Amino acid sequence: MLKIRDLHVSYGNIAALRGISLDVGKSEIVAVIGPNGAGKSTLLLAIAGVVRARAGSVEFDGRAITGQQPEALVTTGLSLVPEGRHIFGSLSVAENLRLGATVRRDRQEVARDIDRVLAMFPILRERYRQRANKLSGGEQQMLAIGRAMLARPRLLLLDEPSLGLAPLIVAQIYEAVRALRDQGVTALIVEQNVGRALSAADRTYVLSSGVIAMSGKSAEFAGNAAFDAAYFGVA
Ligand code: ATP
Repeated sequence: MLKIRDLHVSYGNIAALRGISLDVGKSEIVAVIGPNGAGKSTLLLAIAGVVRARAGSVEFDGRAITGQQPEALVTTGLSLVPEGRHIFGSLSVAENLRLGATVRRDRQEVARDIDRVLAMFPILRERYRQRANKLSGGEQQMLAIGRAMLARPRLLLLDEPSLGLAPLIVAQIYEAVRALRDQGVTALIVEQNVGRALSAADRTYVLSSGVIAMSGKSAEFAGNAAFDAAYFGVA
C-alpha cells in the first residue's frame, strides 16, 4: 500500500533522512521506533507532503505521491495525526470532528462516521459540546485520531500517539488502532515507547540518525541483541 524508496529529506544542510526504504502492506500495523532526533517525525511529514523530499520516491496504492500537497493526499486516503495533536482548543469537540470532514460532501455519512468515532471513544460523547482545550491529554489524542478518521483514511499516520499519556489511556488508544485495522484501516505509527510499539505492530523499523538500522517482525525483536545494538547503539 505504501512503498518508500531511498527517501532523502534535509532541513538546510541538516540531513534528517538519508536514504529510507520502507513498505507498509494493506491492513498492517507498522511501527517506526528510534531515539530523539532520529528522523521519525520527518518521515511522516514527508509521506504526508508537509515537508519536501530532496530525493527518493513515495508510492501510495501504486501511484507516485512524492511532491503532492497535503490536502490532495487527504482526499486520496492518507491522514496524518501529528505530534502535539494540533486540535483547535477554542472549538468544541463536535466542531473539531466536523473539521476532519471538510473535504467531504456526504453529510449523512459524515454524521454516521462521527457516531462511529463517539462509539470508539465514549468519553468524547460526554465532552461533545465542550471546548477542546478543556480535554485531558488523552482525550485530545482521541479527538485528534477521531478527526483524522472523519476523512475516511485508508492509511493513518500516527506521530507518537502515546506521548505523555498514562498507560491506561495509551492502552485505549492502541485498542482503537487495532479496531480500525479490523475495519481495514492501515496504520504507520512513530513511537518512542518501544514496548508499546513492539506489542502493537506487526512489523517494526528502527530508525537511527536518518537511516533504517534494522527491520523485521515485531515479535522477533524482544531480547534480540541486534535490536539492542541498532536501537541503543550497544553491542
Ligand atoms: P523527536 O522524537 O524528538 O521528534 P524525531 O525522530 O521525530 O525526534 P525529527 O523531528 O524528524 O526526529 O528530526 C530529525 C532531525 O532533523 C533532527 O536532527 C532535528 O533536529 C532536525 N529537524 C527537525 N525539524 C527541523 C526543522 N524544522 N528545521 C531544522 N532541523 C530540523
